[in-house]
Formats: sequence, structure tokens, C-alpha cells
Amino acid sequence: MPAVTDSGRATILFIEAVPDGILDTFKEIKTSEAFEERMRITVEVEEYFPEIAARITPASFGLLDEQAYLQTAITSIIHRPYVMENHTLILGCGDSVFLTDPITGHGCNTASYAAEQIYETLVTNKEAAWDEAVGQLIGTG
Ligand SMILES: Cc1cc2nc3c(=O)[nH]c(=O)nc-3n(C[C@H](O)[C@H](O)[C@H](O)COP(=O)(O)OP(=O)(O)OC[C@H]3O[C@@H](n4cnc5c(N)ncnc54)[C@H](O)[C@@H]3O)c2cc1C
Repeated sequence: MPAVTDSGRATILFIEAVPDGILDTFKEIKTSEAFEERMRITVEVEEYFPEIAARITPASFGLLDEQAYLQTAITSIIHRPYVMENHTLILGCGDSVFLTDPITGHGCNTASYAAEQIYETLVTNKEAAWDEAVGQLIGTG
């Protein structure tokens, strides 16, 4: 993936691994040095991605700094977006309701869409009591 960083343009290597599959070899890694080495081995030595390996200039291969890597392993989860507390409707939105792995790049989009839908439902029902029935509308919206 092309990226613009504080150090200029860079290319991000991005791997999605099936749990316990052949590419699932990063989970024990705790340091940037170990991460960089693991990535180098995965791409250049084990040759899972020959086309990518062919595009790498060895002299410029490496992390830009010790924080320039990210590992995630999140199981997506969807919660009901509302709860009634003392007859008050409490709404949720964003990651607290629908959490997806950041690597999918959808959390903000989903949160924005949900915020718009909540707004529309509340405006449409502005004369109603904002009770469980409205919560259910939001939950199915
Ligand atoms: C590395 C990475 C890359 C991502 N890339 C993408 C992408 O490309 N596209 C995309 O759509 N999404 C992406 N996401 C996901 C996206 O960032 C989240 O889905 C989105 O920010 C969720 O918004 P939110 O408002 O629910 O939560 P947040 O943005 O996490 O906001 C929650 C806020 O609540 C505050 N807070 C927490 N606890 C308390 C407390 N007790 N009291 C007061 N404040 C509190 C936090 O400090 C924070 O400011 C990415 C996420 C990560 C981590």
C-alpha cells in the first residue's frame, strides 16, 4: 500500500494471515527488529510473494522507525446499540457497538454511517417517546 509519512513516501507491506496458517508467524513478535526480520524472511526467503519480492530494493527495505509496524488480531463483534436505564434510552455507536479489525479499514465508515442512521431515526421519531421501541428501530436501521 502506498503511504505518505513524516519521512516521505513509503510502501506498506500488508499481510492478512489465516489463524495458524503458514503466514501466521508474527504473533509472538514483540520488537520492531524482530518484526522487520520476520517480514524480510516471509517475503524474500520463504518466497510466498515472488512478485512483491521482485519489487523490493534490498537497500531501502526496512521500517522507517521502531513504531512503524502494527499487528492486530481482533474478532469482529456486534453489540445491540441501545440499552434502557431507568426508563432512559442510552444509545451506542462506533467501535463500542460494532468492532472490526482495523486492518479492514471500515470502522470509521461504519461509525459515520451509523451516526447518520441514528440521527435520521431520532428526527423521524422526534415526537415519540425515545423508548425501547425507538431503540429497536435504531437496532434494525
Ligand atoms: C491503526 C488503525 C487504522 C484504522 N484504519 C481505518 C480506516 O482506514 N478506515 C476506517 O474507516 N477505520 C479505520 N480504523 C478504525 C477507526 O479508527 C475506528 O473504527 C473509529 O475511530 C471508531 O470511532 P469511535 O468514535 O467509536 O471510537 P474512537 O475513535 O476510539 O473514540 C473513542 C474516544 O473515547 C475516548 N475515551 C475512551 N474512554 C473514555 C472515558 N472513560 N472517558 C472519556 N473518553 C474516553 C478515547 O480517548 C477516544 O477519543 C482504524 C483503526 C486503527 C486502530
